[in-house]
Amino acid sequence: MRHKIPGARIIITGASSGIGRQLALQLANLGAKLVINARRTELLNELANEIREKNDKKGVPTFLEIVPGDITLPETRQAIIDRVLGAYGGLDILINNAGGAATGLFEGNSPERLKKVLDLNLVSLVEMTRLALPLLKREGQTQTSETAPMIVNLSSVVGLRGVTHYSEYCAAKFAVRGFSESLRTEIHRYGIDVLVVCPGSTDTEFFTRYLENTGEPKWPHHSRVSPEYVARKIIQAIRSGKHEIIPFFLGRVLNWLNKFCPRFLDWAMLWYT
Ligand code: NAP
Repeated sequence: MRHKIPGARIIITGASSGIGRQLALQLANLGAKLVINARRTELLNELANEIREKNDKKGVPTFLEIVPGDITLPETRQAIIDRVLGAYGGLDILINNAGGAATGLFEGNSPERLKKVLDLNLVSLVEMTRLALPLLKREGQTQTSETAPMIVNLSSVVGLRGVTHYSEYCAAKFAVRGFSESLRTEIHRYGIDVLVVCPGSTDTEFFTRYLENTGEPKWPHHSRVSPEYVARKIIQAIRSGKHEIIPFFLGRVLNWLNKFCPRFLDWAMLWYT
């Protein structure tokens, strides 16, 4: 299914930095109507000003709503849904982007760390989806839309292959893929698509704002892709109705090796524990 961006009503969680911020900039530039969320209100305001200035220069109106707050809280998730309905009369695309990892060997990690990682990367995404589904099914919307509905879920290359030092995060990102695959078949009948995005090393705050850091693996040197590139690939995938993308060359190699030579990867991973 193809999805039109101009005029599409889109929620982006985790829009204050990185991939989410770039998605907001690029989607606004294409004429989408946005509701953006994250905890750092000042960064969301800066982003909103940047988008408004660009649109003013082009002489086009800006459709942008900010809902600051912690996505792991039910009241934040409900406020996002209320805002998209109130401001735009419905929802076309939900982008569950907010996320973050904890790093360190599993042994000795606390149950609290596990809960934090799962709450942010999995539970919030699933609960946002639950709240958004009626709107995506076109129930209760007060304005119609020409864009076919879609859910975009951020997983990771480490949601395709487990790696050392990220056990809880890998578990969450694998679960995102499993949830998304199940849901895709269930909601096909309503014409709702589900896209899973599996980024690899992307140059964002991801690596400097860990939920907890008790040790990092020393991977061989490799260059990271930019969040601009990843956002562009996500938008292309939304437009063409893809089901899963890996916007990182080495991630595609990792996925291939994992399918055809998993024991080799098990062995290689031992070097980094
Ligand atoms: P980032 O720059 O750190 O962005 C993460 C975003 O999530 C920020 O806007 C952050 O904003 C928001 N966020 C974090 N905790 C939140 C909370 N409790 N409530 C609301 N918002 C919250 O990292 P990124 O790389 O763009 O990450 C985007 C997605 O890609 C994540 O799901 C991440 O797991 C995934 N990913 C990234 C990479 C990578 O290499 N960068 C690789 C694979 C997958 P506030 O702090 O202002 O709340």
